[in-house]
Amino acid sequence: MLTGFRMPIDGACLPTSPNLLPNAPRPYRAGVHEGVDFYDGFACAHIGKGTPVRAAKAGVVVRADHDYRPLTPQELDELLRRSQSQGYTDEQALDRFRGRQVWIDHGGGVVTRYAHLDGVAADLQVGMRVEAGQVIGYVGNTGTPQEVTAPDTEFHLHFEIRVGDSYLGKGLPYDELVAVLRRAFSP
Ligand SMILES: [Zn+2]
Repeated sequence: MLTGFRMPIDGACLPTSPNLLPNAPRPYRAGVHEGVDFYDGFACAHIGKGTPVRAAKAGVVVRADHDYRPLTPQELDELLRRSQSQGYTDEQALDRFRGRQVWIDHGGGVVTRYAHLDGVAADLQVGMRVEAGQVIGYVGNTGTPQEVTAPDTEFHLHFEIRVGDSYLGKGLPYDELVAVLRRAFSP
């Protein structure tokens, strides 16, 4: 169940920087990173605004944000202030920080999430079955602070493998984390 994923971007490889992997601290929102960040220059492939994002495995679409309300400066301030004063990022704030998203359910409690998307594939609808490799959206920077502060920067794909109510690799030390992720992306 936790193997056989393909890279969500053509030609991409798993980044090695701990900061781009699950469990990395995210001080700006007093939180922890729950996915893998695919950035240009750090993941083997060219990645920029509009780069196609593909389903990592066959499944059923359970979320497709065709309508997305961009962060405003006021909302960003409020979310950051709240996170800092709580000392953690709550679920609502986390959801806003992921921006425009697609989620795919693979069964057995495994769901993949694709975040910060610039757009969602036009024909994608909740309830629809997708095949591995099918284009489901396009790389953007939605939900990042830079969406507000520096709109032409920060284009990357944030990709999560959810397992039950947690995320793959939660709490694992770096070497074990990388092993688990490599296994996930192997046949
Ligand atoms: Zn991320």
